[in-house]
This record gives sequence, C-alpha cells and structure tokens, in this order.
Amino acid sequence: MSDKTKQLIQDFVDYLMPALTPYESSLYLFLLRLSLLQDGAEQVRIGKRTIAESFGSGAQGAEISYKQVTKVLQNLESKGCIVIGDTIRDGTMYTVVQPRDIPLVKEKIAAPAPIDEDEDFFTDSDKRILLFERDSWTCQYCGDRVTKDNATIDHYVPQSKGGNHSKANLRTCCLVCNSIKSGKSFEEAAPFILKSIQERRQKQQK
Ligand SMILES: [Zn+2]
Repeated sequence: MSDKTKQLIQDFVDYLMPALTPYESSLYLFLLRLSLLQDGAEQVRIGKRTIAESFGSGAQGAEISYKQVTKVLQNLESKGCIVIGDTIRDGTMYTVVQPRDIPLVKEKIAAPAPIDEDEDFFTDSDKRILLFERDSWTCQYCGDRVTKDNATIDHYVPQSKGGNHSKANLRTCCLVCNSIKSGKSFEEAAPFILKSIQERRQKQQK
C-alpha cells in the first residue's frame, strides 16, 4: 500500500467516519475506490442506478434505493466530501474530495487534542512552577537561565498543530527562543534558534 493510500484511509477512519452516517461512509468509500484509490484521479463518472445496484448488494444484502442514493449523495456534497457535477448519458461526474481537504476534517486536525484538566500544566500557575522546576529554570532551547519574571512556556508541538497543555508537550523557554519558536515545530524553528544563539553568544563575548 502506498503512503498516500495509507494516509487517505487513516484520515478517513480517524476523522471523517465519525462525522458521517454509515450510509454516507460507505458511499463515500465506494466513490473513493473508483477515483483516488483507483488511479489517483479525483473525478469519476458513474450513473446513480449503477451506484444503487453495485452499492446495495453489500454484506447485509440490503438494496439501497435510487432515491436513497440521491439523498446520501446530496448529504455528502453538503458536508464537502464530494462535488456533484454535470450529468450526461454515461452518468454524473463526481469530484471526490480527499479526507484531508474536507473542511470538517481540517477543523478536527487543527483542534488541539483534548486532555484531562489534571494534565494541564499550562493554564494553572502552580503547575507552571512545577514545570520550570522540572527543567531547572533553564531554557530548553538555548540553555539560558530563566527566572520567575521572564520564564515562559513553549508548546513543543504547537497548539496550531495539535499540541496540548500536557507536561510532556511543554518546555521551559526564554523570551527570545519563545518568540522564535512560537507556532513552529522544532524542526522548523531549529535553524533560527541556532542562529539566534550564535548571535547572542557573539554579543556576550564583545
Ligand atoms: Zn532560550
């Protein structure tokens, strides 16, 4: 299985499936199978009757009616999962939106993972102190000492990328490093932090 296929399936199961009804899920998968999973193309032209016929004969043997198919397709479109195009003799053109690009999936991916209140070391000021103590009042990026007055907390995985307020994701950070790291992953921020450290050391030597 290619990485892209794996990603498609994972996103579908993790984010999209919980937001769809079973019918919607299976019809979306059916269309995905004929488009992105088949040849990587986003579009597939197929008749509603063909869908109703091939789709209905599932494990339960339940026939899904033409009317139901129409309704479910409309629901999928209103949820941003597909775009219904023109209809000709050969059927209707459906553009299948990959899970990552569906608005409701995007929202879920962006939302920080919820954590237990006890686990929140960011908003509770007493717990912030515990965190600074854990890190020996030292910026975890440049090694500078920090004090109660200038210590900040950095989200190692930024909140915008799903990072939460758990102890494991928080780092004691100086103001300078935090302003550089803010909103970035460590990999993205590392070159800038390194540059800043070098500049600061040079200044100190003068
Ligand atoms: Zn620092």
